[in-house]
Amino acid sequence: MVAGIGTDNRDRQAGWVCAYTPLEILLAAGLEPVRLFGSPGGTEDADAALNPNICPYVRACLQQGLDGRAPAAMVFAGCCDGIRRLYDAWSYCCQADFTFLMDVPRASLGGSAAMYNNSVGRLASALEGYTGREITARGLRKAIGARREVDGILTGFSEAMVRGYDPPGEESLRIYTDAQELPPADFISRYSSRGWGDGVAGGRSNGKPVVITGNLLASGALLEMIGDCGGSVAALDLCSAGRFPALTPDTGEAEPYPADRNGLLSYLARAYMSRTPCPRMLESTERHAHVLKLVIDSGARGVIYVPLMFCDSFLYDLPRLKDKVDAAGIPGLVLVSDYRDDNEGQMRTRVEAFMEML
Ligand code: SF4
Repeated sequence: MVAGIGTDNRDRQAGWVCAYTPLEILLAAGLEPVRLFGSPGGTEDADAALNPNICPYVRACLQQGLDGRAPAAMVFAGCCDGIRRLYDAWSYCCQADFTFLMDVPRASLGGSAAMYNNSVGRLASALEGYTGREITARGLRKAIGARREVDGILTGFSEAMVRGYDPPGEESLRIYTDAQELPPADFISRYSSRGWGDGVAGGRSNGKPVVITGNLLASGALLEMIGDCGGSVAALDLCSAGRFPALTPDTGEAEPYPADRNGLLSYLARAYMSRTPCPRMLESTERHAHVLKLVIDSGARGVIYVPLMFCDSFLYDLPRLKDKVDAAGIPGLVLVSDYRDDNEGQMRTRVEAFMEML
């Protein structure tokens, strides 16, 4: 998944790795935000620079940088120790024109919101220094408008999946990935006129619905597998899918936005901090309730948990989340992922057995 990053456009792009990166500021700085999904294949070079017991997504991203397949500018929202190590290794091993490590609090209220607000302000100033271009209120409003449209399309798609829209495996992941790799205008022109299974009256197409919750998936292989085993995916609760949109009707105050630059930066800080929390955030009750709501609203018959190995945040949260879902009488399958599909055979056997059980 290294689409959109070519040698000719890497100078006008800014790479990012965590969904707590305020993309609107990168856009208002005149850069194209592109999420890194890592180099396909091995991470031999990255493993030489990072401890192998670090998150496989982090190592895949470093490998992408070492392969020269990353934007010239990189923003690292410090969501975990893995990303902070990535920043260190990147600054040391990769020839980047600009690198920035952003502080991200683990809670969304009180002093944490103020801390993130400052962090957002520092990012804006650093990008102005790098690009030599002022980030104006007008530029921010334009970026917020575009991103809001992208997140609106994604939210509509996620809701359609919960209602019963059942696109073939890869496709459901592709739309979320495109929203993180394509410039907003390109994404909007590609997806704004798409209908999402309107008229899926009476619920789901055919398969046994399941909810997937985790960090990131390296590919749609698992989604294809679920389809092959008579299942269908009702929701993709991943930071690279359903949890990605930040400017949704629930989080972003409607227009008129604040008039001035600082007001808009604070608006963004509030929106990003009030999105569906990921397991790194202290608001675990809210997060667990969100997963249970996806299960209930979609009529899902099971939950598949796909934590990345060595992801302390998700692996720490998993037992409590699973206990709550189990207590609701919903069976679960835990597939710890190495962010590669090397163990596809083993994974298929477990998915088949789980789907038969539902
Ligand atoms: S998956 Fe977990 S360990 Fe990896 S970057 Fe995300 S939060 Fe960090």
